[in-house]
Amino acid sequence: MPSTFDQPWPVRDDVRISAVQAIVTAPQGIPLVVVKIDTTEPGLYGLGCATFTQRWKAVQTFIDEHLARLLVGRYPGDIGDLTRLAGFSGYWRGGPVTNNAISGIDQALWDIAGKRAGMPVYELLGGKVRAAADTYIHASGHTIEETLEHAHKLVAQGWRHIRLQMSTPGGGGYGAPRVPTLYPDAPYHNGWSARDYLRATPELFAEARQALPDNIELLHDVHSRLTPKEAVLLARSLEPYGLFFLEDVLPPEHWDRLPEVRAASPVPLAVGELTTSMGDAVRLVRDLGVDFIRSHVSDIGGLTPARKLADLAELCGVRTAWHGPGDTSPIGAAANVALDVSSVAFGIQEGHLYNEATHEVFPGTLRIEDGWLRPNEAPGWGIDVDLEAAARYSAQLSGHDEWAAGVRRPDGALEAP
Ligand code: MG
Repeated sequence: MPSTFDQPWPVRDDVRISAVQAIVTAPQGIPLVVVKIDTTEPGLYGLGCATFTQRWKAVQTFIDEHLARLLVGRYPGDIGDLTRLAGFSGYWRGGPVTNNAISGIDQALWDIAGKRAGMPVYELLGGKVRAAADTYIHASGHTIEETLEHAHKLVAQGWRHIRLQMSTPGGGGYGAPRVPTLYPDAPYHNGWSARDYLRATPELFAEARQALPDNIELLHDVHSRLTPKEAVLLARSLEPYGLFFLEDVLPPEHWDRLPEVRAASPVPLAVGELTTSMGDAVRLVRDLGVDFIRSHVSDIGGLTPARKLADLAELCGVRTAWHGPGDTSPIGAAANVALDVSSVAFGIQEGHLYNEATHEVFPGTLRIEDGWLRPNEAPGWGIDVDLEAAARYSAQLSGHDEWAAGVRRPDGALEAP
């Protein structure tokens, strides 16, 4: 009986995977997981993003204990086959731990493929259809004044797209700090109120439109806390301010209601950073619920599935806005940009400013220049890892766990993070 290690077709040469390991490092305080795949060819290895910062130990164990032994000895050029093998090997499929682990494998194999071809990954995807990816950045503050002060600084630095988040009582506004409660008589004093949020948010954008230049595009992230009708009310109240997009108005549990919200919304809707299966991502793109698909590439399994999603988005008239905050590794950010410059469906890229320690650990990390991101022209991702530096920035259990479970309504009920 043939072994699962038998190669079912002839391959071009003798190069084989010799080692697979998860590297965990936190140069910016956020645990990052990156897979390194070594090969039998001296000096030929690849890197892939497997960062699920809230559950990094689970992903690390999955890669080191389960996937490494499955992949060592195999031909690194069979990317589609090996990532399907990694997925099928657990029988039950999907979910953020599994998908991030497979993404790490997938992107590392694309890196190896690029290095073997002498080409950057975007060229393996078909080459550029644009010179660079335009990005957006976050402005936040306790108050309208503080938020706009931050936005003015970003405009002065050359940013053209700015996401505005203002603190609301009981919950930081995603980048915005917490503020003291306004609900002293409620059972839970530090609660978050949808009613007050729906009142305060249009006030922020009304003042922003007065204060900021007309050519600055404004964005906002709700973070999944509204009902379908509340979402429509918010979208309509923001119509005069011409948002570039309004993000995550509903929790994933209610995504089936997105088509009715979108039909009633005068502003474009961006959804999808919480997709953890291609099935969910495809439904968002295909079933009329979104204007921008926001999937986090490693959470849907890596570059291979994401390029399929980008192609589907192009065919459906949906644009991409890949999730790209600080819990995306520089390898993941490079994968986003490879998709951005090679995909007709590109809409916008969320930008993150990596600190110098991250550049030290990952030489070649992309830098945003005047709001634009460009891929490296070196083969593969054009990004390396300094293992000694990575070890100096050891990861702790993520503070994201506490953050994500820390928002409650004034009556004490847990709210979506
Ligand atoms: Mg978001």
